Amino acid sequence: MKKIAVPAVVLGLVLVLVPGPASGEAPAKVKIAKEKQFVLDWLGRAEAVESFGRISDSIWEYAELGLQEFNSSKLLADTLEAAGFTVERGVAGMPTCFVASYGSGKPVIGLLGEFDALPMLSQKGRVAKQDPVVEGAPGHGCGHNAMCTAAAAAAIAVKEAMAAHGIKGTIKVFGSPAEEIVASRPYMIRAGLFEGVDAVIDNHSSSGFGTDYGVGGNALFSTIFTFKGKTAHSAGAPWVGRSALDAVEIMNVATNYLREHLQLSQRLHYIVLEGGEAPNVVPDKASVWYYVRNTDERLEDMYKRVVDCAKAGALAAGVELASMRVVSAIHQRHASKAAAELFQKNIELVGMPAWSAEEQAFAKALQKELGAKEEGMPKEVEKLEAPTGASYGGGSSDVGDVTLITPTATIGFPGSVPGAIGHHWSNVACWYGSTAWKGLNAGAKAIAASTIDLLTRPEELAKLRKEFEEYAKTHPYKPFLPADATPPNDLNKELMDKYRGSLEKALAGK
Ligand SMILES: [Zn+2]
Repeated sequence: MKKIAVPAVVLGLVLVLVPGPASGEAPAKVKIAKEKQFVLDWLGRAEAVESFGRISDSIWEYAELGLQEFNSSKLLADTLEAAGFTVERGVAGMPTCFVASYGSGKPVIGLLGEFDALPMLSQKGRVAKQDPVVEGAPGHGCGHNAMCTAAAAAAIAVKEAMAAHGIKGTIKVFGSPAEEIVASRPYMIRAGLFEGVDAVIDNHSSSGFGTDYGVGGNALFSTIFTFKGKTAHSAGAPWVGRSALDAVEIMNVATNYLREHLQLSQRLHYIVLEGGEAPNVVPDKASVWYYVRNTDERLEDMYKRVVDCAKAGALAAGVELASMRVVSAIHQRHASKAAAELFQKNIELVGMPAWSAEEQAFAKALQKELGAKEEGMPKEVEKLEAPTGASYGGGSSDVGDVTLITPTATIGFPGSVPGAIGHHWSNVACWYGSTAWKGLNAGAKAIAASTIDLLTRPEELAKLRKEFEEYAKTHPYKPFLPADATPPNDLNKELMDKYRGSLEKALAGK
């Protein structure tokens, strides 16, 4: 097991008994700085667990898609403002993006928080079989409802500690929309929001409680290809028409052949956004939305070849490739080792929440339903492991770009049932009610404790800065996002408008 490191140079130490992280061992005596003890106590109050839990549940109920998170963003921004933060809303060209700041001067510590839902995943909370709130509506299948809430809870606790103990510096909460379409952070960076930020603490929902470092996930181009042809009667005079849908289909066939010749790190997927309106009219407009993913080094080459497939589709169908709209483009995550090592100590200090019998029963029922191992909720925090160095591709997060402009790592906090599936109804079921409340509270404690370390222990922040500045020499930030790209504020509007009313109605009587 790991021993919890003791900060030797902190003034005003409080002696506290902390249960040993491994079972069967005697509690370890750990000296905790009074400022850190303050935030742990502040967040540990039943009132704090409940009030932030209710905020998380409200955002879960809103289930708002990326850049349509008007209620979610407002609730979080209002909460921070009422707690004494200065809030700038609608920043970086996105109505639901905000920055909440408290304090002044250096150091400046940033907390990231996401709050968008995913389409098609509607599900009742804490129900262990598929049962949507509204059939086909969005749902929080990635726990983002708990994530910005954890950041806000941590920030408010830290603010209280700053006021009570005269801690100097600035904390900023970056309310980051549309993570599910990886579409806010590159625009936020471009708008200069992270200038002067010395370090960033990101968080993500998980089944475990841990952190990581190194290069991970995939870089990504998210692009909508639109083709323009000519309508005609599909039976009467089809030779007059030029089908834009044909171009989409030929492009898709071409990219599916391309897969064979790409490195294993690639991921390539698409949905058809527009493909005509009736079989008897040759479609003159069609569009397809692609996610093109690979490592930072391989992304641009792969993307060029996908663009060639689009051109080939247009040429073969005799139509025009009318536009290639880059919705977003992001880097892999390059998470800071020094940050992860600091966060790990605080994760071990906070420890895994104690799950009730009811929470264990729900976890086992869900695991049974999914055919997963019926092991219940985890009992111990994760160990910090060295990255393997191998890249087999995978998902993406626009946190990637942030990791290249300031030292950043992610605290993963528990609440999801082990075996629940990401972007699936089972994960939506987990992120509502008691386990989500406890998990986000544990996450908030680790975030707040780490923020206190970075504000009060200059030698810790210096480690992060030194490591980052070395790394930046070989990995300077060069955005993949084209200079003329604009935030896709329109992309999810129609879909969200379709379900907003029925979701409100379904939850009104509850
Ligand atoms: Zn997520």
